Amino acid sequence: MLAVEVAIPRPLYSLYTYTWGLPDPPVPGDCVQVSFHHKEVTGVVTRVLEEAPEGFKLKPVLRKIDEGFRVPKETLSLSLWSAEYFSAPPGEAMAAAIAPKLSSWKGKRKKLKAPKLVDPDLNPLNTEQQAAMQKITHEWLKPDARPVLLHGVTGSGKTEVYLHLARAALDQGQSVLVLVPEIALTPQLRERFERALGTQVDLWHSAVADGQRQNQWLWANEGTTRVIVGARSAVFAPLKNLGLIVVDEEHDGSYKQAERFRYQARDLAFVRASQSKAQLILGSATPSMETWMKAEEGRVLLATLKQRHKGAELPEIEIVTLKKDDGIARGEVLLSKQVVREVTDALARGEQAIFYLNRRGFAHYITCMPCGWVKECGACSVSMTVYRRRGALQCHQCGREERISEVCGECGSTELGTVGCGTEALEDQLPKIFKEAKIVRLDRDVMTSHTRLEEALELFRSGQANVLVGTQMVVKGHDFPKVTRVVVTHADSLFRWPDFRAEERAVQTLLQVSGRAGRAELRGKVLIQTLCPDHPVLQVATGQRTWEAWAKDELLLRKEASYPPFLRMLRMRVFDATLEAATISLERLRDRLQEELPNVELLGPSPSLIDKVENKYRVDLYLKTASVADLMKSSHWLAAAAESMKIEFALDVDPHSVV
Ligand code: ADP
Ligand code: ZN
Ligand code: ZN
Repeated sequence: MLAVEVAIPRPLYSLYTYTWGLPDPPVPGDCVQVSFHHKEVTGVVTRVLEEAPEGFKLKPVLRKIDEGFRVPKETLSLSLWSAEYFSAPPGEAMAAAIAPKLSSWKGKRKKLKAPKLVDPDLNPLNTEQQAAMQKITHEWLKPDARPVLLHGVTGSGKTEVYLHLARAALDQGQSVLVLVPEIALTPQLRERFERALGTQVDLWHSAVADGQRQNQWLWANEGTTRVIVGARSAVFAPLKNLGLIVVDEEHDGSYKQAERFRYQARDLAFVRASQSKAQLILGSATPSMETWMKAEEGRVLLATLKQRHKGAELPEIEIVTLKKDDGIARGEVLLSKQVVREVTDALARGEQAIFYLNRRGFAHYITCMPCGWVKECGACSVSMTVYRRRGALQCHQCGREERISEVCGECGSTELGTVGCGTEALEDQLPKIFKEAKIVRLDRDVMTSHTRLEEALELFRSGQANVLVGTQMVVKGHDFPKVTRVVVTHADSLFRWPDFRAEERAVQTLLQVSGRAGRAELRGKVLIQTLCPDHPVLQVATGQRTWEAWAKDELLLRKEASYPPFLRMLRMRVFDATLEAATISLERLRDRLQEELPNVELLGPSPSLIDKVENKYRVDLYLKTASVADLMKSSHWLAAAAESMKIEFALDVDPHSVV
């Protein structure tokens, strides 16, 4: 009797065998319903066995789901490859490759008429863009074409180049995949692509409703959809005859999934491109050190755009040193007199301003003046964030909420104060400082839905609001021509972070924030407030040092300190009821692994930066090695050993951060 191996969407490292008694023969990639621990689940056939193994009592596959949902060979092997490399349970990796919620599939297939290619409305490329385009197409035509890094300053028209390349692929009858970070933030992107390419473009991200995502999956798989713009998960989109993959803002941290199946979509794009013989384009103004090293070594071809389109000038960037007396009042937002003056003038001229502050809430925490007690979450080892408007404290780890404390938990004093300020405080205080300000705030606390996000962006775009306040969300990809002042209210929080990538990320954020100013005729200015004006990161932001010079030094430092991209890392995190228990398990794993693989470097175990979340303690072990083979052996060994010891753990291969 025939049997099949099935990947089950559960955090388990095994594949499961079922007998196959259905009339049609099984094919790898088939989505099937099977019974697993007395529940019906949807799994994917990874392998067909001619003979059911003997001596086991096997259950049969119950039902096959519509053949239209069969995972194509390419993405099936991509997801198996990534389960292997990122040491993820195969079923969880497979879940990324199948259409969502297949068990709720109603069998109603919306037919999509193949969209006709109409005349594209492409902007003609400028001279510099043409040169980049030529360099890329020249490479693309080679049989062993290398991936290309399009390194272009913000506003240089990288997107215009992507569009020309995409149109070239479509004209060849090929399909196109464009990955962008935080796609939900850029609702206008689709129109730009559809208009320019003259064909339908599907958006691919988790905020799209399940029914629509199922249909989009079918259209891509049957070859009707030919252009997808999506978030990281789109790297698994079942597009047919893929000719071009673009990874925009390739350095962006959101390409790495931080939970469950911890894959890096930019890195998977390399694998997918080489499997499909598609051309890969990575775009960024501030490439990751990983990609930059490949470009320096010639494994990735470098194409550069140095100027903004039509000579739109890069904004002037000024470092503003904060002084104690700059505070409007104690405990409130620190704004320098210069910022106040310049933003007031800009608003009076009818221009707009953006305030970037990477902290949500009103204040970072609440503290007791006499004794220094800090209010922490009862379940996590972090202080609780103050939300003054709704009178609440919230834990950003577990989401727990409480009323704002009125007495000290240590000495009983009622003299409590708040420390630090977040976007809610800015939103409250800016109207008091700027009489003409009409404020709109953009952060995860207010943007609870897609509609609210679009409304907020529209308020600002239409000019009904003239000040945009927000976190990382304001940094990404927006194009607001009337913005002439961008204020980074507290740059220090960007580089004070115990992570070897802290500086890389600070540079990326500062240059990206700066890119929001003066994108049209109006010259913009960026004001970066800081307490340490001499920090090297700020010299890159102001242009005193080129990004390339900074990158060269950064790579040297990484090499000396043995960090990626010169080595690979993985993090093994163990969770337990006490720090001691977690540490002991991890020490045992470390010692046995070190015997197994004496060449890998093991660091730890030590408590995570946030060592308790929801009453579970977390301890980390880091591994460094130059050998991919050793990396994979280690992660597989750790997963198997931890699973057999019944330890709760999370493995992160190539972790994006080490905190
Ligand atoms: P990037 O992706 O590099 O940040 P964009 O592609 O968004 O840059 O371009 C920045 C701005 O310049 C956009 O408003 C874009 O429409 C405009 N632009 C860039 N190149 C051209 C071009 N060749 N023709 C017309 N407009 C262009
Ligand atoms: Zn908590
Ligand atoms: Zn106290």
